[in-house]
Amino acid sequence: METGSPIMSGAEALEGFVRAAASAPRAAALLCDIDGTISPIAPTPAEAHVPASFREVLEALVWRIGLVAFVTGRALEDGRRMIPVEGAAYIGTHGLETMAADGSVTVEPQAERYVPAIREITETAARTLDCEALGVVLEDKRAVLAVHYRLAEDPAATRHQILTRVVEPARARGLTIATGHHLFEVRPPLPFTKGSAVRRLLQAGDYLAVMSCGDDLTDVTMFGAVRDWSERDARRRSLAVAAVTDETPRPVTDAADVLVRATPGVQAALSRLAAALGAV
Ligand SMILES: [Mg+2]
Repeated sequence: METGSPIMSGAEALEGFVRAAASAPRAAALLCDIDGTISPIAPTPAEAHVPASFREVLEALVWRIGLVAFVTGRALEDGRRMIPVEGAAYIGTHGLETMAADGSVTVEPQAERYVPAIREITETAARTLDCEALGVVLEDKRAVLAVHYRLAEDPAATRHQILTRVVEPARARGLTIATGHHLFEVRPPLPFTKGSAVRRLLQAGDYLAVMSCGDDLTDVTMFGAVRDWSERDARRRSLAVAAVTDETPRPVTDAADVLVRATPGVQAALSRLAAALGAV
């Protein structure tokens, strides 16, 4: 491993994938998480943004390969605001909402009936948590409540408050809890994940080479879905790229084929793909 190189491991796997994608660009797809993958982690979700240099390479790719999809835990519209790319598909709220490349939107219909319970948990959290003192940011995504605590000065005490004021009441109402970097999410108890949404998206097209990029536990479902997809046909090829920082959970690096150094590493990998396709 070369010290300081944006590609930490798996450079050969990346090259093999890039060659396969370049041999049939319209059968290539890119599935890309946003926060922590193409947008550097910021103190609050509202402060995060995608650097212009990323946007250029993604815009170049969207016209050359069969599919570019942004797969985010953010609400669909928020994901589009972060990285507006014409011709791209978007999967929002961890697979709850999908916008195809033609602009048509589908929402998991079963989620609607959990919206009132999640709203009630959101209101209780806003009333009972001293968000400013605890360093908590509540993100209301309608069918999902995200509780961010990256700003907490005492993370253990803040976690305890979130557990008693949000997680326990949510579980008591039959809702599901997911966790990530300094994050709890209250969700409908439905089997949707980034992976289940990606599976549907890949079934809708004839792809042979699919690259997925992510940085957090929810992305492991996407990596798994793409690997399962490739294992069903010997002609298919998949590549999972993990954006690695000091905080990367172990299951993410275990599930990836290529480890890159945070968001600049993802940009290096995408630029390599774009260059092979003559896109930059
Ligand atoms: Mg992420």
